[in-house]
Amino acid sequence: MILERFFPDIYVKSVYELPIEKLKAMGIKGLVFDIDNTVAPFDIAEPDDDLMELFLYLKKQGFRICILSNNNRKRVQLFNKNLKTLAVHKAGKPGVRKLKLALKKLKLSPKHTAIIGDQIFTDMWCGHKAGLICILTAPICDRDQLVTKVKRGLEKQVLKVYFKREGK
Ligand SMILES: [Mg+2]
Repeated sequence: MILERFFPDIYVKSVYELPIEKLKAMGIKGLVFDIDNTVAPFDIAEPDDDLMELFLYLKKQGFRICILSNNNRKRVQLFNKNLKTLAVHKAGKPGVRKLKLALKKLKLSPKHTAIIGDQIFTDMWCGHKAGLICILTAPICDRDQLVTKVKRGLEKQVLKVYFKREGK
């Protein structure tokens, strides 16, 4: 079914609910994070303390982390100033070219890596295409860039099918 290419392997309400033990058991060693509305609102320039702590914790748990954003260099560099993690800007998701660059930076194969994002048409689509485990989060807030806003209606329809199937 074509819709399954947009469905996540795992759904969480937020990045603070990542099933860490399950991911370890699945052999996941790297996490590729979208920024906007996944780990921060799109119009907030820097990560908050909770996110700083989460990334530190995940690294302590042995995960390698890369942020992968369709946003521009300035946005990604400023956001990463204190996080100091691997980062790729202008990712061009749903294209997979920059996602593969992220894997190269992580020095991990797709099957040992999960992508975490809030959008099915970009984050989930390219994750599946490249062979990663795909984790969808609910968007952090309902403020979106215009281009994203346009997609949310259709996204809702697709997710309705997913949640119905999952019994959620
Ligand atoms: Mg996003």
